[in-house]
Amino acid sequence: MSYRGRLAPSPTGYLHLGHARTFWTAQERARAAGGTLILRNDDLDRARCRPEFATAMLEDLRWAGCAWSEGPGIGGPHAPYAQSERLPQYRAAFEQLRMAGFIYPCACSRQDVLRALTAPHHGDEEPVYPGTCRLRSPAVSDHEAALTQNWRFRVPDGEAVEFTDGHDGPQRAVAGVDFGDFLVWRKDGFPSYQLACAVDDAAMQITEVVRGADLITSTFRQLLLFRALGCEAPAFFHCPLLTDEHGTRLAKRHDALSLRTLRAEGRHAEELRG
Ligand SMILES: [Zn+2]
Repeated sequence: MSYRGRLAPSPTGYLHLGHARTFWTAQERARAAGGTLILRNDDLDRARCRPEFATAMLEDLRWAGCAWSEGPGIGGPHAPYAQSERLPQYRAAFEQLRMAGFIYPCACSRQDVLRALTAPHHGDEEPVYPGTCRLRSPAVSDHEAALTQNWRFRVPDGEAVEFTDGHDGPQRAVAGVDFGDFLVWRKDGFPSYQLACAVDDAAMQITEVVRGADLITSTFRQLLLFRALGCEAPAFFHCPLLTDEHGTRLAKRHDALSLRTLRAEGRHAEELRG
């Protein structure tokens, strides 16, 4: 199988230097392997994603020197490449998990549910779910009705989930201890970040996921999803995060280091890559 990598930015703000470095690393790894790089627009979070940011992120990535051969506006064998257009795929995966008994409806914890749509970052990891709704017998059997409830994945308690990260080496987390039953579906009809990401990486035949180190703990959950869906998991390579001069992780609020600002200041992409 030939290498397939992906750039998966979210249009929730302007991309900054830290994103550029991660995406550049993804591109270099695809190039070194003689593989294909695709672009996926991770725009499921309707409250935070904006069309102008989606346009800007493509422009900024091209300016930074990134190039991809499948994606929004280009097309490709796995179109559509925007998550907001892939709800049928997520619903099918949800139904597969539901019929196989991997997930159960959950009526609690609004906070966790609210957070589940976007990629988690350092410091806002879900607390381990106490399992309150695990033993409730599901009242709904109809697919459409089920889509209007929150659903959690029942993790295999006590099982060590392991993988070898391409950058950070061997990783291990124990299900039910280091992380608990996590949300896969929200009652507003959208999949969680974890489910959407796993479904797309499998469907788009991604062989290696290159992304920021803030997502390393998501990998354990996604590995369980790949297995439950009967899909082979990709390899993972988590890039260290860039910090500012105070040691704070770069975020979209660091306007001074956004690619837009740097370009407006006359900086060159070659210089940033250096
Ligand atoms: Zn619950």
